[in-house]
Amino acid sequence: MITFYPGPSRVYDKVPEYVRQAYDEGILSINHRSPEFMSLLEGTNQLVKKKLNVPDDYQIFYLSSATECWQVIAQSYSGLSYHFYNGAFGKKWFESTKKIKPLTIGYHYDMNKVLNLSELDLSGEDGLICLTQNETSNGTCISNKRIAKIRKEYPYHIIAVDATSSLGGTKLNIENADIWYASVQKCFGLPAGMSIMICSPYALESRNDCRKYYNSLNAIVENAAKSQTTHTPNVLNLYLLNKVLSNVKNVSKISQVLNERMTAYLDFFSTKSELTPLISNPKVRSQTVLVLQGNPELIVKLKGEAKEEGIILGNGYGEYKNGTFRIANFPAIKNKEINLLIEFLDKSIN
Ligand SMILES: *Cc1c(COP(=O)(O)O)cnc(C)c1O
Repeated sequence: MITFYPGPSRVYDKVPEYVRQAYDEGILSINHRSPEFMSLLEGTNQLVKKKLNVPDDYQIFYLSSATECWQVIAQSYSGLSYHFYNGAFGKKWFESTKKIKPLTIGYHYDMNKVLNLSELDLSGEDGLICLTQNETSNGTCISNKRIAKIRKEYPYHIIAVDATSSLGGTKLNIENADIWYASVQKCFGLPAGMSIMICSPYALESRNDCRKYYNSLNAIVENAAKSQTTHTPNVLNLYLLNKVLSNVKNVSKISQVLNERMTAYLDFFSTKSELTPLISNPKVRSQTVLVLQGNPELIVKLKGEAKEEGIILGNGYGEYKNGTFRIANFPAIKNKEINLLIEFLDKSIN
């Protein structure tokens, strides 16, 4: 089966080999307070920084999921939390924060429009600005330029960015925001069960002193200072991330490749009248998740026929469940798999 699902998604072919290596090296049974673990963690931090162009003074943490990052952020910052969203994941982040913090404000904006700074009606002089850089449900993104503008306009707010389906695939200017996070089952081509959170010095010094939870940022930071974690972590996934990052190119290169692939997809679909990209504005169209809309019956038929040929298309998400399907444009997917998909679609649609 070739999967184009945008998470969990295709894992790298080498994953089974790395799992075997982890077993043979005894990694699966090492103590997470041991020097072996600490050096694995430090090595992985360095690779994350190098391959994703993370500024030197930012710190890297490993949590269990993007959803856990929502919770950690909500319980670690006391001020207002402003959420700007145009789709299902951004909305879920807003709703999950609201359960923890009463001072949470959500602004919905049009998915075909660039997030407009004048829509940012922030009453407080500080607080969190929460953005979903790549909205996996509708295939939109927020550009580096736009995030840089927000940074400039709001230097004292903590800017937190959900980059779950773009970190590792899209070139992101990490210095323009304070908190970035992603889980590894999207652009890192790994099995689910771990997330990466990247924090600026400003994010770390602004955290509150909440110690009620095992996953308070305080506990996470204190453990990370010793190259350790608050609990027994997903050592296997950390090892796999280390291996994958050792073998991939810098994200700037990966981003170029994904951009070319996306252009090829869009050129192809421009010749097909039965399917159109859900997002018509190229300025906000994601580079890593393509959402196509068409007649719901055609979409059911296409997904069924694709499956018979060994190709899994991503279901539409949330309110777009029936009228769309999704194609992940993630780094682990191979050119020859994309060619097979295009061949299949070419013969199946007008
Ligand atoms: C997949 C996804 C999540 C949730 O990730 P988990 O690892 O399941 O917590 C959150 N935000 C976005 C944008 C996503 O694509």
